[in-house]
Amino acid sequence: MSCFLQIPVQVLLRSALSQPLRILLIDDSADDRDLAIRELEQAFPNLQIEPITNAEEFAQALDANRFDLAITDYQLRWSNGQRILRTLKARYPERPVIMFTATGSQEIAVEAMKLGLDDYVIKAAKHYIRLRVAVQSVLERVAERRRTARLEIRLHGLLTQLNVGVFRATLDGRLLESNPALLNLLGVRSLQDGIRDGLSAFFLDPELRALTQEGEREVLLRRPDGSEVWASVSETLTTVEGETFIDGIVEDITTRKQAVAQEQQLSATLERRVAERTAELEEVNQDLEAFVYTVSHDLREPLRGMQGFAQALLEDVGERLEPLGREYTGRILAAAERMDALIRDLLEYSQLSRSRLPVQPVSLETTVAAALTQLQPQVQACSAQVSVDAPLPPVLGNATVLLQVITNLLTNAMKFVAPGIPPQVTIGSEDRAEFVRLWVEDNGIGIELRNQVRIFRVFERLHGAETYPGTGIGLAIVRKGVERMGGQVGLESELGQGSRFWVDLRKAAAR
Ligand code: ADP
Repeated sequence: MSCFLQIPVQVLLRSALSQPLRILLIDDSADDRDLAIRELEQAFPNLQIEPITNAEEFAQALDANRFDLAITDYQLRWSNGQRILRTLKARYPERPVIMFTATGSQEIAVEAMKLGLDDYVIKAAKHYIRLRVAVQSVLERVAERRRTARLEIRLHGLLTQLNVGVFRATLDGRLLESNPALLNLLGVRSLQDGIRDGLSAFFLDPELRALTQEGEREVLLRRPDGSEVWASVSETLTTVEGETFIDGIVEDITTRKQAVAQEQQLSATLERRVAERTAELEEVNQDLEAFVYTVSHDLREPLRGMQGFAQALLEDVGERLEPLGREYTGRILAAAERMDALIRDLLEYSQLSRSRLPVQPVSLETTVAAALTQLQPQVQACSAQVSVDAPLPPVLGNATVLLQVITNLLTNAMKFVAPGIPPQVTIGSEDRAEFVRLWVEDNGIGIELRNQVRIFRVFERLHGAETYPGTGIGLAIVRKGVERMGGQVGLESELGQGSRFWVDLRKAAAR
């Protein structure tokens, strides 16, 4: 701390010297006074000497208080140096006094020093020069004293204002110094109270004495009034003039501690709530899926009845029916079949959400080949041209779901073409970092950008069932299946320009 507050003595002296230097010269001998003045004037150009030759003048000078320093002889007709010194120091303890005498003894000098004399110079022809050296060094000392005093005041002010507790203690646990913030933090009025209440124990880390190094820790203090406060205590060992002390800084961290605790509590509560909500949601989802499954399942039974009896109607009494009656029965049958397909697809979709989906390396080539075999009748029916850009790499997936995904994409690719145009379908793959992209490209009717997201949702269809029959669940199954295998789906298309549907699937680790 002292390094940045230190002001060189010369600077202080010079500023002091720009003011006149006022000296009381207490000496009965006019010759001695003149010699002294002559000597001092050489060193201090801006000098004001007030000669004092009797008690009255001395008393007046004291009252007037217009001097910076006093030089006094020891032997005076009206007093002596000792008394002068006493009187001066009693009234102006900080004002330097130099004794300049031919008569004093060593004992007198020692005695006078005890009374606060600042220097002692023997009056002899060759010693006059010593006088100015003495004045100079006394002035330097005064400047130094003032500087230290100012520093102390400043330091004291700082420590008093500081919001952090500061203390110094001996190694055996005696608190020596503290600032108001520390007492405040301890909840005591004085250091003595704190010591009496045993609070000092908190500040003296017994290990510190052994370690001889800095230590910082957090302690929970109980104040005399029962309240608790969290404090961060940093201690360090300092050696001053051979004696070692513990210097410490104590900071109230209660608010910080409370904030951290609150934060932890909050995040624990949040986590618990999220877990609860997730569990609730999962339960609701499961219930919903179970419901869809049951309903779909149960719906098929009466539907089968409708289909069966409509069929029977046609077969058994069809000939007796009017043509209109036969047409209506045929329509009932077709509607029932469509509904059956719808329920089947829904069941499949809900099944996909319900069941666990084990994944393992699956050959894309085998799966594509299997899908094409299944779809052979459709391929032939619409004279489609299907080509595969081999080789196709293996992926991580579920073989059954993957077959379903590829089948749905191929079915659509062959279905959504302009009337009378033979479908041309290409299947290929692309490497995409940790994924393999499988794509299915067609020469079909294409899809506008604004519809490209919604077609992956359940029941979303862009055309009427008369133009392109379907249930609107095929792509939803594709998406759900791929996502459950850890992949993603998407497409590139423009209206009338064909489409390229793609699925990104995780790569199977190379063997
Ligand atoms: P569905 O095929 O039963 O209608 P999907 O879920 O498979 O149901 O498809 C949803 C809609 O997306 C289709 O009705 C169609 O409008 C559009 N679509 C799907 N595939 C293609 C494709 N390859 N080309 C053009 N449109 C398509």
